[in-house]
Amino acid sequence: MEEQLKELKKEALEEIATVSDFNQLEAARIKYLGRKGKLTAFLRTLGNLPASERPRLGRLANQIKEEIEKALQEASLKTQKIASELKGKKDLIDVTQPGLREPLGHLHLVTQAIFEIERIFSQLGFYRVRYPEVETDWYAFESLNMPPNHPARDEWETFFITPQIVLTPHTSSGQVREMEKGKLPIKMINLSKCYRRQSDVSHLPMFHQFEGLYIDKKVSITQLKGVFDYFAHEFFGPERKIRLRPFHFRFTEPSFEVDIDCSLCKGRGCRFCKAGWVELGGAGMVHPEVLRAGGINPEEYSGFAFGWGVERVYMMRSHLKLPDIRLIYKNDLRFLKQF
Ligand SMILES: [Zn+2]
Repeated sequence: MEEQLKELKKEALEEIATVSDFNQLEAARIKYLGRKGKLTAFLRTLGNLPASERPRLGRLANQIKEEIEKALQEASLKTQKIASELKGKKDLIDVTQPGLREPLGHLHLVTQAIFEIERIFSQLGFYRVRYPEVETDWYAFESLNMPPNHPARDEWETFFITPQIVLTPHTSSGQVREMEKGKLPIKMINLSKCYRRQSDVSHLPMFHQFEGLYIDKKVSITQLKGVFDYFAHEFFGPERKIRLRPFHFRFTEPSFEVDIDCSLCKGRGCRFCKAGWVELGGAGMVHPEVLRAGGINPEEYSGFAFGWGVERVYMMRSHLKLPDIRLIYKNDLRFLKQF
């Protein structure tokens, strides 16, 4: 019996000496001193021993128990020290580790659209220009065949700074500015901000337009249609179709509204498009009066022009059924991250 106890003590002290963390320490405590522990089991059998043996072995067992408890306590201090040393190492800066990267954002969806539109037209030889966001009445209206008080102005007259100066209401104001450079042929794409007085679920007081202007000798409607087809195929997909619908603008003659087949119903007609087509924007052959305003002889040169909204064409492509177009500029990351 006594031998067994001594053996148990040796085993326990050896095991506790190798303990290096709290889990091992707790396991050792349970193994020897727990309710079903080895020493506890021995103490329970004391009652079965002959009365002569009992006091001596009882004392020995208690003595061993104290020694084991003391060893556990020392081991506990040791593991605490090890743990705090490990933590200290973690707090050190390892200069060889790769650094933490700042989260990277991406370009705003309208900027993405502008870059793509610019790329597509540059493949056709159009060069990008930008004109002022504040414009004179001459470039914004009069040079475009809209004399003062003409009712055609009503749609655009907005945000006048003085009676002669207005926030640019449409990119068409860049047409005569480009002609005045005196270089022909002209193949510009003017991508700029425009301002209108509307603000509701389908209108923004500030938005972007892209204005194409092609002027050369013998420019025809066929070329205009070809450019629109190319743009539609590149931007919306090779299966898409466009059509020209006669319309009226003061600065083009003839004028058209350009439609693209509805992507939702594939041109069959649905609640969104009604008859299978969705309007992209206006276009037409440049009016002779506009050419004259830009110092170009309409007998010698002709051209076509178109001005469409960037936000609008982008929304048509991505099938964004936005409940409110103003969401685009609310700068809500939950929305912007999706593009
Ligand atoms: Zn449809």
